[in-house]
Amino acid sequence: MSDIADNLQAVQARIQRAAAATGRPPEAVRLLAVSKTWPLASVLAAVAAGQRAFGENYVQEGVEKAQATAALDLEWHFIGPLQSNKTRSVAEHFSWVHSVDREKIAERLSAQRPPALPPLQVCVQVNVSGEASKSGCAPAETAALCARIMALPQLELRGLMAIPEASDDPAAQRAAFARLRQLFDEIRNSLSLPSFDTLSMGMSHDLEAAIAEGATIVRIGTAIFGERNYA
Ligand SMILES: *Cc1c(COP(=O)(O)O)cnc(C)c1O
Repeated sequence: MSDIADNLQAVQARIQRAAAATGRPPEAVRLLAVSKTWPLASVLAAVAAGQRAFGENYVQEGVEKAQATAALDLEWHFIGPLQSNKTRSVAEHFSWVHSVDREKIAERLSAQRPPALPPLQVCVQVNVSGEASKSGCAPAETAALCARIMALPQLELRGLMAIPEASDDPAAQRAAFARLRQLFDEIRNSLSLPSFDTLSMGMSHDLEAAIAEGATIVRIGTAIFGERNYA
């Protein structure tokens, strides 16, 4: 078995243990393999081990991999910062965007989504740690952005995403994820939108805390593909 296949199995086992520890079924948590900076060969090794959903941070790199694997029926998720001059490529080549944090980006993605494709699946990225430098919508503005996205024809609002400030303290990790879950519950209760079912949170070092707080998608790079040289 390749290292990547081994690593995928180990990550799936972590997900199952973390889900079981909070009484959630293992299938309640989807694994998104974050392949940013890794070559196509790494993606193909993960595909050979059964992985279908991949996350990318950089538009050009993600589009190249999506095009190169078009025959394989994979699901490509854009999870990085998104500038308005790059929205068209994302709307054309990805199935999901986890990092919508303002109305202008949402409007462009909807207008540029090709009508022949299913609606783009969208999460709003929320800045739960409150640092000025981090991207993400302010928690107090998130409900309004969600309502705006619901009105856009080529977007399907799926939920919320966050990248909390990194911490080695499990209690601090859980507290940040709990803030996102609380906001998610509030918005879900106020919208009547069955598709609003996704909490995208948890990375290689904190997936257990995220699953304990209700993550439905964990975004895992390093634990599958190894340490990156950049980003
Ligand atoms: C890189 C990245 C990940 C994966 O992080 P790892 O620590 O390598 O698991 C997840 N989400 C986003 C938004 C990322 O940029």
